[in-house]
Amino acid sequence: MTLLTNKMKGMLKMFVSENLGVNENGHLTIGGIDTVDLAQEYGTPLYVMDEQVIRSNLRRFHESMQKYYDGKGEVHYASKAFSCLEMCRIVASEGDGLDAVSIGELYTAVKAGFPMEKVGFHGNNKTDEELEYAIEVGVGHIIVDNLPELRRLEKIAAEKGVKPHIMFRIKPGIDAHTHDFVKTGQIDSKFGFALETGEAFEAVKEAVSCENVKLVGLHCHIGSQIFDIDPFVEAAKVMLGLIAKIKDNLGYEIAGLNLGGGFGIKYLNEHDPVPFEKYLEKVSEAVKSECARLNITQPMIYIEPGRSIAAPAGITLYKVGARKEIPNIRTYISVDGGMADSPRYILYGSEYEAIVANKANEERTEKVTIAGKCCESGDLIGENMPLQHAESGDIIAVCATGAYNYSMSSNYNRLQKPAVVFVNNGQSRIAVKRETLDDIIRNDI
Ligand code: PLP
Repeated sequence: MTLLTNKMKGMLKMFVSENLGVNENGHLTIGGIDTVDLAQEYGTPLYVMDEQVIRSNLRRFHESMQKYYDGKGEVHYASKAFSCLEMCRIVASEGDGLDAVSIGELYTAVKAGFPMEKVGFHGNNKTDEELEYAIEVGVGHIIVDNLPELRRLEKIAAEKGVKPHIMFRIKPGIDAHTHDFVKTGQIDSKFGFALETGEAFEAVKEAVSCENVKLVGLHCHIGSQIFDIDPFVEAAKVMLGLIAKIKDNLGYEIAGLNLGGGFGIKYLNEHDPVPFEKYLEKVSEAVKSECARLNITQPMIYIEPGRSIAAPAGITLYKVGARKEIPNIRTYISVDGGMADSPRYILYGSEYEAIVANKANEERTEKVTIAGKCCESGDLIGENMPLQHAESGDIIAVCATGAYNYSMSSNYNRLQKPAVVFVNNGQSRIAVKRETLDDIIRNDI
């Protein structure tokens, strides 16, 4: 057993993700690879994803599903968190499903050879083109959000002579104590049918009488980056109550219950997320006992984790340009990316840990503002961030950026989107190429 010195303990504390380490050169490593070498080889800004972390997170979910819910469930990775061909291939090779929310995410899955019967298609405003495409490529479920969509789908299915399986997105009215922008389960939400008002039950009545769609499940998603188990348990109970009501009043059995995603992860050292296993243990217990109490058959359970699969696997590497010290105010460390590749701080005030990759064995002695290069004062990656003394030419790693960074990136200021590199046991490979200047103008006439 290695005894840790105080300095080593301090160093380990700055690594929010377990796959990060320090090598003999004092450089940060990910998946056993020197991040300074990665920055040199592939350029910066650079998204780096550790394949082993993605696989292990997927397995933790589906193995817990097996253990606590007797395998009567499926894990559908929420591809909005991070989607590209390679990610879809990895999820497919683990035997898991996918949650897609646009024709673009569906197309990516199709092109990756994903088994489309394991895909759930979401969206609060799907177009006819998207519904037709979802049917053509044979998605497993279409999660219907509203009555006009149900009616359009019924018509499209009739024209095509098919009977797609649908679920209904329900607002269970659960307050998950999270950031307002990502709270989706309450009544004031653009997503789904409200339960309290009776809207959901009325919609189910209409759906069960449809000839060209088959209602097979109910769906809810109560928010994101949730640390508590209780709201998930509560949501499951509320949804089972609706399933029981449908059975008692309409004699119709709902076979599937999709409980969405939203499991919190460690972005900062002080974050203490509940292990996924615990979540699945508690929710499975609640589902089993509630089904017995309500005298309904245990439904097939689906979950849709996104952030918890992808975020801990990723880091973003930047090169430091200017260091600007404003006495008694703050120190700005400007990097070669910013809100275009890392939009979550400007959108939600979301915080990250950062490390100077080439000084990873040094203490973080300063508190700085990491600024991007966009022409926008708010273009910050974070404020008050503990960091080693950073100077021009240093490489900064921002941790836990694997979800909702690449997928939410933009070309603001006509910046080229960074490359995505996957690392796996000491090997790296490019998964998404860095955009070229010609990519920037490729659709301009
Ligand atoms: N499912 C649905 C319907 C969602 O809207 C989201 C996120 O917004 C997710 C799953 C994934 O959530 P998370 O990445 O927090 O696990």
